[in-house]
Amino acid sequence: MSTLEISGLHVSVEVEDGSKEILRGVDLTVRSGETHAIMGPNGSGKSTLAYSLAGHPRYRVTSGSVTLDGEDVLAMSVDERARAGLFLAMQYPVEVPGVTVSNFLRTAKTAIDGQSPKLRTWVKDVKGAMANLRMDPEFAERNVNEGFSGGEKKRHEILQMELLRPKIAILDETDSGLDVDALRIVSEGVNRVKATSDVGLLLITHYTRILRYITPDFVHVFVDGRIAEEGGPELADRLEDEGYDRFLTPA
Ligand code: ADP
Ligand code: MG
Ligand code: MG
Repeated sequence: MSTLEISGLHVSVEVEDGSKEILRGVDLTVRSGETHAIMGPNGSGKSTLAYSLAGHPRYRVTSGSVTLDGEDVLAMSVDERARAGLFLAMQYPVEVPGVTVSNFLRTAKTAIDGQSPKLRTWVKDVKGAMANLRMDPEFAERNVNEGFSGGEKKRHEILQMELLRPKIAILDETDSGLDVDALRIVSEGVNRVKATSDVGLLLITHYTRILRYITPDFVHVFVDGRIAEEGGPELADRLEDEGYDRFLTPA
């Protein structure tokens, strides 16, 4: 049983003429087995939240706290966060020239577990997970994200989650840019991890359509760097009908 607790989180980024506050007091608790959807308009700070949790150096936490099972996440390096069980699937996955998918996955697994996986079961696990995600086996020998299509990048993110088995996974717009078939395959992958582990999920999305495949327990509407409203899955239906307008209209 794990708990990620975000409290009063304020985050700024450095810009040309000083710094700009983007997160303005985020409070959120994600427990094992729970699926939280964070929904919000573009530019509301959703990716900033994801990067801040992952430890991206550009984002400076000015106040607040983040703990995983009581441990101070903000004091951890990026690697330590991963070893502690945090996983981030980025909205825009980066290329890793010269590193194959196969090597990347094995290195990550070794770093997280503190020992290299048993070769025979590992090869089988990778093949199985790739088959589940309808990925060509040749994919394993390509360099990470180099020339990958949008859909391939997203599948590769889910492949990582499936093999690394994080305690808490943050998926930043894993649905964006996917056609219906790819969305279904990716969603099935997420649901497989949910069914076979106790992962706590933070599903960041602009659109409601992925929530037809992955049912959230909680929905949080993110506006202007903080959570503006919270509810259950019915809140997503309401957003589907009404959009974000009512949150953006000045009072
Ligand atoms: P979302 O993911 O909800 O679309 P982001 O977190 O990407 O929102 O961005 C929130 C705001 O912060 C935007 O106004 C964006 O331009 C700004 N921002 C995010 N990252 C940076 C950065 N590295 N430098 C400058 N501004 C940034
Ligand atoms: Mg974003
Ligand atoms: Mg579960």
